Amino acid sequence: MRYIIISNRLPVTVTDKGGRLRVTRSGGGLATGLDSLQTSGERHWIGWAGLHVEEEKERERVRARLEKQRLHPVFLSPEQIREYYEGYSNSTLWPLCHYFFSYIACDKSYWKAYREVNELFCQEALKVIRTDDIVWVHDYQLMLLPGLLRERMPELNIGYFHHIPFPAYEMFRFLPERAEILRGLLGADLVAFHIHDYMRHFISALYRVLGLECRMDEVQLENRVARIEAFPMGINYDLYHEAPARPEAGAFAEKLKRIATSRKVILSVDRLDYSKGILLRLEAFAAFLQQNPEYWGKVTLLLIVVPSRDNVDMYADLKTRIDKAVGAINGAYTSVGWVPVHYFYRSFSFSDLAVMYHMADVALVTPLRDGMNLVAKEYLAAKRDRPGVLILSETAGAAVELSDALSVNPMDTLEIAAAIRTALAVPEEEQLASLQRMQRLLARRTVGRWAEEFIAELRRVRRRNEELGAKVLGKERLPDILDAYAKAEKRLLILDYDGTLVPFVKDPAQARPSPELRATLAGLAADPRNTVVICSGRDKDTLDAWLGDLDIGLSAEHGVFYREGEVWHGEIPEPTWTQEILDILEQITDKTPRSKIEIKKTALVWHYRRVDPWPAELRVDQLVKALMPPCARLGLQIMRGNKIIEIKSADFTKGTEVKRLLSKDPFDFILGMGDDVTDEDMFAALPESAVTIKVGQFSDAAGYSLPAQSRVPAFLEALRAAGEPHTGGV
Ligand code: UDP
Repeated sequence: MRYIIISNRLPVTVTDKGGRLRVTRSGGGLATGLDSLQTSGERHWIGWAGLHVEEEKERERVRARLEKQRLHPVFLSPEQIREYYEGYSNSTLWPLCHYFFSYIACDKSYWKAYREVNELFCQEALKVIRTDDIVWVHDYQLMLLPGLLRERMPELNIGYFHHIPFPAYEMFRFLPERAEILRGLLGADLVAFHIHDYMRHFISALYRVLGLECRMDEVQLENRVARIEAFPMGINYDLYHEAPARPEAGAFAEKLKRIATSRKVILSVDRLDYSKGILLRLEAFAAFLQQNPEYWGKVTLLLIVVPSRDNVDMYADLKTRIDKAVGAINGAYTSVGWVPVHYFYRSFSFSDLAVMYHMADVALVTPLRDGMNLVAKEYLAAKRDRPGVLILSETAGAAVELSDALSVNPMDTLEIAAAIRTALAVPEEEQLASLQRMQRLLARRTVGRWAEEFIAELRRVRRRNEELGAKVLGKERLPDILDAYAKAEKRLLILDYDGTLVPFVKDPAQARPSPELRATLAGLAADPRNTVVICSGRDKDTLDAWLGDLDIGLSAEHGVFYREGEVWHGEIPEPTWTQEILDILEQITDKTPRSKIEIKKTALVWHYRRVDPWPAELRVDQLVKALMPPCARLGLQIMRGNKIIEIKSADFTKGTEVKRLLSKDPFDFILGMGDDVTDEDMFAALPESAVTIKVGQFSDAAGYSLPAQSRVPAFLEALRAAGEPHTGGV
């Protein structure tokens, strides 16, 4: 088994020190999490190495240096870094996904570079990837890559993880390239997020931007499904838990004790970024000091801001404002022997950071938006058995799991100030009890387990796609059907109408058969060996008007009426719908713009194809609930079809119609084709030897699948041609 990880950055940084290449490992959580995969396979990693190399000879040298570690560098020019990385990734997608609307830069040259670099990653990846590899693409810099890989290698097992929030549609809709981005992601078999909210937003974007509907966690594409899931990323728990107890932690712990023994320490750790809410946090701390003079001299805020992107104006400006805010607090409150904010604009070693986590009485983690936030989890792990309280923003992904934290709205500075006061007063036993509950959770849900669960799910989707793919009526399987058809002497072809022979349209009255379709049906009917029957839920007048002149059987209202030769048979069953039921439907229709009622002789149908999905779901639930008592009393069936609810007698289904047709003659070739729930009754009633084809959504009941309705006419035409003597069948 080979795993191919693709992310913007390699887990190492390569530097050129006077002609000698130095490779240093960056200790991010992702790299350690993915280490666990190496136990079950070979891990390759593709990404940018962090250095600029122009000449091919030099590039070869870097490649050769990294090859042993199975690292494969992608080389980016300074211009690409500016436009793809700093531009589209960090100035368009980052603010968009973190809801910073006014910070979003829309620049076509950024988009062009983003596409170009995603393509470049694809080219590099193709040099490494084999068909049976497992490919895992990471994060928002590479959202087009799954689609690009899928185009080149349709069978590849591709997963994508989005490490930052995925915004609500109302935000996402502003992205000019929203459709391309979504299509890129759907190249993956599995698209995963940290939490359900992001997953829900993505599903909503798929519907609203691409018109694609998810069934639970799955969206059906042309020949396969893509699954959407939530996997909250964990940390390397043992690493953080053990770190403060290691010998190398001692010296820094001693230094820190000078601040920590005489007063409470509140810790704040972030990268410099506007999404982290650092300024509001400082405002909250100032409010806390102002409201609680008894804490003056007794509390210190350790503010760590890790330098990031500060060559960009917006970040440099944020840095200046943080400097000023810290200066203002310290200027106002510092006394001899006490500085309220200890401010560090730098990064710390892993060991020193773990010591700070361990010693801090309170961790103040208040991002405005954060995909997950690992600092919160690392703090809890490093606490070991020392009391501590976590104040956590409700808009950090981590808030979903860490329900024992003190939760705050990061915009509400007074609430944060109050939370600081509360945190400082929580009794020690209570602190330890909450801490232990959260530690147990984090010790179980580690980053290693996160990676394994993602891969396991990715494998499951692959197996599912293989099973589904085996059913798809493509080049491999078509000849068998055509051959059997050609050889048969007496054939029965049962075809559903809407969604099978014609596509769904907004107004069902417009779904007339095209001249081409009519010609195909006439051609099939002209073969004396064929009995062709259209089996539909439609009323008989419509079927008669559209198809009555053809020499085919018609079956209307799910088999209640059927036409043989020129004559219609069948009687309206008892009981049928009542005024009481019609009243219920009318009430719901009044409340649901764009829905409508169809009154058939034997059934009532509520159509909601044009209704927005959320109100549609609400009204369907209300309708079914209201219909249940009268339908139970009258022995009527409530049937959910493709964007319809139908109330009808339980005595007639497409299954009963199939049984009637089969009872007439023996056939040596039987074909059943349909797209809807009602067609499942048809499939179930047909003998095992029949060729059953589900159009559109995949179904377990049918033997074959034609995912796109648009392919049905060509299939029927192929069938017709196969029956002609000179073709020889195939
Ligand atoms: N971190 C670090 N050095 C420091 C301070 C923090 O390496 O001096 C790490 C920290 O341990 C954490 C990461 O930076 O793993 C921050 O991750 P988080 O999810 O909190 O935020 P992000 O920066 O990814 O938005």
